[in-house]
Amino acid sequence: MRIVFLGAPGSGKGTQAQLLVADTGIIQVSTGDLLRDAVKADTDLGRRAKAAMDAGELVSDDIVLGIIRDRLSRPDAATGFVLDGFPRNLAQAEALKAVLAGIGKPLDAVVLINVPFDILMKRLTGRRTCSVTGKVLNIWFSDPAELEASRAAGGELVQRADDNEETIGNRLRVYREQTEPLVQYYRDSGLLREIDGDGSTAEVYARLRAALDTTAT
Ligand code: AMP
Repeated sequence: MRIVFLGAPGSGKGTQAQLLVADTGIIQVSTGDLLRDAVKADTDLGRRAKAAMDAGELVSDDIVLGIIRDRLSRPDAATGFVLDGFPRNLAQAEALKAVLAGIGKPLDAVVLINVPFDILMKRLTGRRTCSVTGKVLNIWFSDPAELEASRAAGGELVQRADDNEETIGNRLRVYREQTEPLVQYYRDSGLLREIDGDGSTAEVYARLRAALDTTAT
């Protein structure tokens, strides 16, 4: 199964991708995670990407496409993948199409996760990552027992550098201007499935699986 998750920052793409990976054995490819790893490791690529990421702007297509080509050419991608955070503009979507056509493995589906604006803001401002388990939690929405378990395990709840209000506003604007046109692009190609992303993680996941049931695996 080869799929793309589309949705605004905070729509739950990463969380839903993790669940799908655990259930199906396909890999998750998050360009955001790969870029954050590069920044943390202070690689040349990370240094080139950092300013755009801190500002909530898109990193240049050549950097992101290099990362994607590299990741999709590894053996474990052969069983399938979910792309989370890529493509983010039409040029990336066209490049992805060309890469996949080149290996004879086109996309099976593109899932758009719809979430109202006010909920996106709360999800983004409240998002934290447990420093011990790596689990993504939310100070407003997560089960208090889960937040406490993270603290009890000695974990710190770390906020992403770009989850501050100013950068969030910019990321949502970039999504509207550059990424949203992909909705029509994938609708036109017959790949688009839409799900309601408002609700608990489990509720949204059930909708996702139902939407994918009609898709070849
Ligand atoms: P994300 O974790 O998907 O929200 O991505 C965090 C940041 O990484 C974005 O705000 C961009 O600066 C950068 N980024 C992630 N994916 C892409 C992409 N496909 N194209 C350009 N920049 C990206």
